[in-house]
Amino acid sequence: MTNRQDSGMPVQDQRVGGVRGVTILGSTGSIGINALDVLARHPQRFRVVALTANTQVDRLLEQCRRHAPEVAVMREPGAAEELRRKLARLDLPTEVLSGEEGLQSAAALAQSDIVVAAIVGAAGLMPTLEAVRRGKRVLLANKEPLVMSGHILMREACRSGAQLLPVDSEHNAIFQCLPGGYQTGAPSQGMRKIFLTCSGGPFRTTPLAELVGVTPEQACAHPRWAMGRKISVDSATLMNKGLELIEACRLFGVAPEQIEIVIHPQSVVHSLVSYADGSVLAQLGNPDMRTPIAHALAWPDRMESGVKALDLVEVARLDFERPDPQRFPCLCLAAEAARMGGTTPAILNAANEVAVAAFLGGVVGFTDIPRIIEYALSQVSMNDEAELEVILADDARAREVAQQFIAGLSSRPKRGMQ
Ligand code: NAD
Ligand code: MG
Repeated sequence: MTNRQDSGMPVQDQRVGGVRGVTILGSTGSIGINALDVLARHPQRFRVVALTANTQVDRLLEQCRRHAPEVAVMREPGAAEELRRKLARLDLPTEVLSGEEGLQSAAALAQSDIVVAAIVGAAGLMPTLEAVRRGKRVLLANKEPLVMSGHILMREACRSGAQLLPVDSEHNAIFQCLPGGYQTGAPSQGMRKIFLTCSGGPFRTTPLAELVGVTPEQACAHPRWAMGRKISVDSATLMNKGLELIEACRLFGVAPEQIEIVIHPQSVVHSLVSYADGSVLAQLGNPDMRTPIAHALAWPDRMESGVKALDLVEVARLDFERPDPQRFPCLCLAAEAARMGGTTPAILNAANEVAVAAFLGGVVGFTDIPRIIEYALSQVSMNDEAELEVILADDARAREVAQQFIAGLSSRPKRGMQ
């Protein structure tokens, strides 16, 4: 590859004939696929420069065939070798990189003006940070890095001039309800509070006693959104809303007390901002991630996303209710972590990632998830607002402690399924 940016200076504008280059970190996932769908509608505005994935060789190969990126990255080196061979067989010129280094190179490419951060979990932290340091427009779907180290991402964005635009539908909605010219990270004058909406997930009305036995398939069957498995489980426990509460504090410079979570089963109102004069502004739309993706790609313009227009009469009614803390203990754990600050959100996030993976792997039960997180929070002592090394050390310690707790659970037969 030639022409890689290596100066560390912000990329102000690398458009070729008005076409903006785009890198998608995590292109084979749910957000990545939606982003490619939107980009393919606007070849005159965007070109795909780099795509990355973890292990899904055939899906990335198909994307290379269709979108002809200059670079493709497989995190796993064996998978990278396989992709290289398959591309060569098809005579496709895409260069293949691998590993964490490859992900960071893709995030830093000079030919990319825009980086879509769509890796799942803490694994997205370093490449996202790299894109921010390079001064890109960063479309943030990957919320976990913000939860772990939001103050670092915001600080680095200030330094490099990167534009951090939220793609998480609620945060994108809030961003749209803030005054024109609003820049993420700054508190907004006249804002009273934020209403963060939430569908309630698949178990909103399931009898509490049945939650103990729910399966990964049931947890991943979200009533409104089709998403990756980790965020689907987070949506069932409402940890997703807890992570989003922390994400909103980071992105919009507000305290946790200024955010109210409301369950809104129709998932049509994506979030709201309440102002000092009594006005409440909301963003509405059909639940389809292509809307926030297209918004952030085109911002401050608007462009076609492929999402059908909202039919208000068909929607007919909008319901709102308070979440039940007994049903959703993960939400309470996250709200407490938001209040504690420091590395507590990183500890919470790491333990949750381990707990969700164990649930998806059939090792623990659904109701074990909050127990694992609570245990990790009680065992790992938090550090104050910290630099990256401290955050990563607390993340690693939380994973270790969570694994130990799980080992204890699984040595007792069927403990998780009681
Ligand atoms: P997904 O599981 O469908 O896709 C994840 C992508 O990341 C895949 O391309 C995968 O190959 C890649 N990946 C996974 N582990 C990796 C690793 N260790 N290293 C490098 N790449 C890795 O996930 P998703 O549903 O698209 O979610 C992506 C992110 O966006 C998550 O942080 C999620 O919370 C957030 N988000 C998703 C939605 C949604 O509708 N899916 C909505 C809002 C926010
Ligand atoms: Mg969301």
